[in-house]
Amino acid sequence: MTALVGCIGGGQLGRMLGLAGAPLDVRFRFLDPSPEACAGDVGDLIVGAYDDPELLDRLAEGADVVTYEFENVPVDAARRVGAVPDARALEQGQDRLVEKQLFARLAIPTARFGTLDDTGVPALVKSRRLGYDGKGQRRVESPESLGEDELAEEVVPFDRELSIVGVRGRDGDTRFYPLAENEHRAGVLASSRAPAVDASQAEAEAIATKLLDELAYVGVLAVELFEVDGRLLVNELAPRVHNTGHWTIDSAVTSQFENHVRAILGRPLGSTEATGEAVMVNLVGDVPPLERLLAVPNAHVHLYGKTPRPGRKLGHVTLVDANDEQIAEVIG
Ligand code: AMP
Repeated sequence: MTALVGCIGGGQLGRMLGLAGAPLDVRFRFLDPSPEACAGDVGDLIVGAYDDPELLDRLAEGADVVTYEFENVPVDAARRVGAVPDARALEQGQDRLVEKQLFARLAIPTARFGTLDDTGVPALVKSRRLGYDGKGQRRVESPESLGEDELAEEVVPFDRELSIVGVRGRDGDTRFYPLAENEHRAGVLASSRAPAVDASQAEAEAIATKLLDELAYVGVLAVELFEVDGRLLVNELAPRVHNTGHWTIDSAVTSQFENHVRAILGRPLGSTEATGEAVMVNLVGDVPPLERLLAVPNAHVHLYGKTPRPGRKLGHVTLVDANDEQIAEVIG
């Protein structure tokens, strides 16, 4: 039974959703401003603005469901097409202050936030909107007044960064992947290891469950966490499939992409169990020689078909049950 999914955004996440849909006879149609959008290789591509009502209607026409693959989708656009997850998740996640207030309301621990008086210095000052991958973020060492669109956060002396990816079906069935341990470079994810060793899976699941239930969420959601002295603080939520869940394609029973597709179409969810120990390495800015990557026996190479540019995510490699030598071979 062929199904059709519309997707606002046609980047690599859309591309991997499309690839996961194909074996289930689920086809994709994407909306993206760029004619080069890399999801266009695996589905139909409508080129134009995310908030163009006519194009949104074309995206939704005949589709069983419309979803999105990035969190800065205009809320009105998501509403117009009745997107799943619904626009409420976007609203909560698009403004860092609103997001932090949601965490506080649900008694989910976070870094102290507010003005510099609330946090003290040093602090991280982040733009409330449109910040991602460490963009729109600066470290402040002495008191100053903040702009309207800025939010201060205490600098968390974390031991490591973790994330949990969960999925909730239309019937409320909720499942979680094992926690991933993440390393960032210049604010951009460099690598994830999963399952993270000695991490508080139950605590992370309790936090994510509160969010999924509060938002009556359907689909895949990721929560980024700091681990400090064995306790978890939430950094942010992402109402979508997530870079720290890419390892699930090669090292879990059901990938995050397939589970997102299953959830939004109201189908039974698949097992989120890990089948091995994964190290996912992002290919940022340029791609090492393909022959070298493919020569590593346990490496699964995923290229996104994007034009190289500094700082741009071009692909990733997931090593499953690999040794240090093999991992070094990929990291270069
Ligand atoms: P974000 O844009 O909020 O995802 O932040 C990007 C990265 O900056 C995070 O993955 C952390 O490495 C770092 N970071 C963000 N907020 C804090 C904080 N309050 N304390 C320490 N490091 C942070």
